[in-house]
Amino acid sequence: MSEAAQKETLSFQAEVRQLLDLMIHSLYSNKEIFLRELISNASDAADKLRFEALANDALYEGSPNLEIRITFDKEAKTITVADNGIGMSREEVMSNIGTIAKSGTKEFLKSLTGEQAKDAHLIGQFGVGFYSAFVVADRVTLLTRRAGAVAGQGIKWESAGDGEYTLEEVAKEGHGTEVILHLRDEESDFLDDWRLRSVIRKFSDHVSWPIMMLGRSADAEEAEESAEEKPEEETQEKVVEEKWEQVNKASALWTRAKSDVSAEEYNEFYKHISHDFEEPLSHVHVRLEGKFEYTLLLYVPKRAPFDLWDRERKHGVKLYVRRVFIMEGAEELMPRYLRFVRGLIDTSDLPLNVSREILQKNQVVDAIRKGAVGKVFGMLEDLAEKDPENYQTFWKTFGKVLKEGIIEDYSNKERLAKLLRFATTHTDSEVQDVSLSDYIGRMKPEQEKIYYITGETHMAARKSPHLEIFRKKGIEVLLLSDRVDEWFVSHLHEFEGKSLQAVTKGDLDLGKLDDEEQKKEREEQESRFKDLVSRIKDALGENIKEVRTTHRLVDSPSCLVGGEYDMSATMERILKDAGQEIPGAKRILEINPEHAMLQRLQSEGDAERFDDLCHILYNQALLCEGGQIEDPVDFVRRLNNLL
Ligand code: ADP
Repeated sequence: MSEAAQKETLSFQAEVRQLLDLMIHSLYSNKEIFLRELISNASDAADKLRFEALANDALYEGSPNLEIRITFDKEAKTITVADNGIGMSREEVMSNIGTIAKSGTKEFLKSLTGEQAKDAHLIGQFGVGFYSAFVVADRVTLLTRRAGAVAGQGIKWESAGDGEYTLEEVAKEGHGTEVILHLRDEESDFLDDWRLRSVIRKFSDHVSWPIMMLGRSADAEEAEESAEEKPEEETQEKVVEEKWEQVNKASALWTRAKSDVSAEEYNEFYKHISHDFEEPLSHVHVRLEGKFEYTLLLYVPKRAPFDLWDRERKHGVKLYVRRVFIMEGAEELMPRYLRFVRGLIDTSDLPLNVSREILQKNQVVDAIRKGAVGKVFGMLEDLAEKDPENYQTFWKTFGKVLKEGIIEDYSNKERLAKLLRFATTHTDSEVQDVSLSDYIGRMKPEQEKIYYITGETHMAARKSPHLEIFRKKGIEVLLLSDRVDEWFVSHLHEFEGKSLQAVTKGDLDLGKLDDEEQKKEREEQESRFKDLVSRIKDALGENIKEVRTTHRLVDSPSCLVGGEYDMSATMERILKDAGQEIPGAKRILEINPEHAMLQRLQSEGDAERFDDLCHILYNQALLCEGGQIEDPVDFVRRLNNLL
């Protein structure tokens, strides 16, 4: 070690401190999972070394048997989790351990209420990880040396979790990482061989690397037993012989037959790979042997990760080749709209030295992805059919993401459309639980289309005057109020031969739902109101494209509609909010000839009052669809004139 090696004291990112407090509080009744988290990290480190060593054998530095060793010291009150994996350089320690390298962390922390009890469940969205060590320890020491780095030169990181940490160069023989937990006094019961072994078996049995603990020879056990009877000096003479024993099964869980894996094991494996501390909602485990061979074990989580909407977010599916971990977050294996899926795919049809570039244009990968997507659909279809309650949980959490698939994945549109759920006028409830098949099942015999309305909120959609005629005739309408809805309906033109129709667009054509008599009546109204219609048009001038009588309305005097091919008003607002310059298409003002206000207009002799009434009629319609009045002062003035 050079003399220049100095101990440096550095500060955590402010967010780390906040996250630590939250974590300690959240995991209060679940403390033992710190061990699972540290073992998972150690296992990842071994995975990474094995992968890098494929190209450079020397990285093993002569010790290719990778394993994880757990020891404890009753006197010193420490537990040590050691691996001979990839290790970390000084820079890596600083960026991985002193900061939270996850984008969106700040936003996540902003979403916390500050009330720990309320926030406790949110930690699940974030993932637990290394910092869970502080749940049981009041000081954590990490010794590490990157495989292949200058022999003997390691880094020591230490912190009491109080906002600061120290870094210094130290001697470290082997490559890999040792995490030493200095337990809080009240956590001493973890300093127990039996306790630790049972925690390892419970949480980490399936970790594919051996997890070793010191076994005690018969001699040692005897020594311990007799220690209870004999005075201390005598027992200290006996040397406890060191012998490492493997505690876990260490067989890759996904290579086992489904029938050999219990529900608990599947759940624990999920937590191990995802750092989630809740159970998953559902999983699918299959081995495919066709043209290509691969095994997949994929999960749908219960809760959305905090960065679900972050476009840079890592995907959740890991790639293995013949049980060797290759890479994380392989987006080539799962489309964007299934980015919530976690798990792994293991294939024997790719070379071990496969790179990101190779993955991008590869027919094996394409075939695997296609198969995997099909399996995820199968899992979701199953859930929807057999467990609607959990499907509802899924839909609430990930429905908006799944809808992106309608836009992105043309080839699976039909299958995806069946998985969609909507709020509709059938119950008017905000809960999205009606499938398109349910809707079709309830369609009137003469009904040819699936009707929908979009609004910025559920309330806005539900209360829209455009629905009046549909309610009167008892025709169900889908109520769409998620942001993605505007896009996705423009990509879903039909479902099972029925086209989707916005109730706010075009000339309302109810097809066979309209009877002849009503049609005649409307034609008669149209000619009766022809004069009034053109007077209103003159009064409103440039504001609108056209005025016409309508049969859409029952209780309201007026509404605005778009042309068949115009952008909807909601879409226009979304784009404007996003800072896009768009030339707003002029709308059509439809008036309800049955309404008293129109009768009043019809007989209004005063030109100024007529003008005021027209503007009020127009602005009311604008307000009802969630729009903004361009000149509120003018509107109020006109209203007051009339009052
Ligand atoms: P996560 O594992 O979710 O990324 P952690 O907080 O547990 O978050 O760990 C942060 C990072 O620190 C890991 O991604 C890894 O790069 C590094 N790390 C943690 N433990 C080890 C270890 N035993 N060996 C090598 N690197 C590690």
